[in-house]
Amino acid sequence: MKSANKFITIPQAILLAFAVTSLAASEKAPNWAYEGATGPQNWGELSADFNLCRQGRNQSPINIQKTIDAELPELVFEYYSSPLRQINNGHTIQQNIEPGSTLKIPSRDGSYELKQFHFHSPSEHTINGKFYPMEVHFVHANAEGALAVVGVMFEEGNENSELSKLWSFMPKNAGDTSEQAIGIEETNLLPPTREYYYYSGSLTTPPCSEGVSWVVLKTPVQASAAQISQFKERMGQATNRPVQAHNARIILN
Ligand SMILES: [Zn+2]
Repeated sequence: MKSANKFITIPQAILLAFAVTSLAASEKAPNWAYEGATGPQNWGELSADFNLCRQGRNQSPINIQKTIDAELPELVFEYYSSPLRQINNGHTIQQNIEPGSTLKIPSRDGSYELKQFHFHSPSEHTINGKFYPMEVHFVHANAEGALAVVGVMFEEGNENSELSKLWSFMPKNAGDTSEQAIGIEETNLLPPTREYYYYSGSLTTPPCSEGVSWVVLKTPVQASAAQISQFKERMGQATNRPVQAHNARIILN
């Protein structure tokens, strides 16, 4: 049995050395994933910068239910065609947007510039417990740097014209980019009716920063089953953070 102990000791030493190396690496650029040891349940432990992922009280996504009727202000989407400019960042496929497209809230003098949009599959938000096969997030920032994110659900149905363009040039590996002289009409990724839920939340990826205004549109848009699987297969895993506790928050509709 003495020799057995020896065999146990050696792999432990290797594991320890590996753990120390990983920690050193993570101090520079903390890595995270949607599953395994660096998955959502451990994001808060991966870096001091990710503390809010564990300790935040206003985290996203959430299950949207028990909403409160409110006179929510009208949203005006002034989105203009933007050249196809995608990155596969290893967590999602992201389309970066040229300056000029805005989300306006006229009754509140609010103006947020669209910076990028990206996808999750399955959806991150659930509505009355229901998951959708995919969700797109339009990320906006105002002049003060405050973030407003618009979430739109996809349901399976007709092929989506903008996804056809985007997915034709979907970057293959993490770090790959794709730029094409093709105009992406972001408006075609929005439903015709713009009724929405509103709540205060966070980024759904590390560092899970709070103070994000979340707008989740009530009406889904459609994508074909093939388009949904194409994204899923490229990412190779589910790309949704589990829903978070509401805590003291209210959700308006
Ligand atoms: Zn997102």
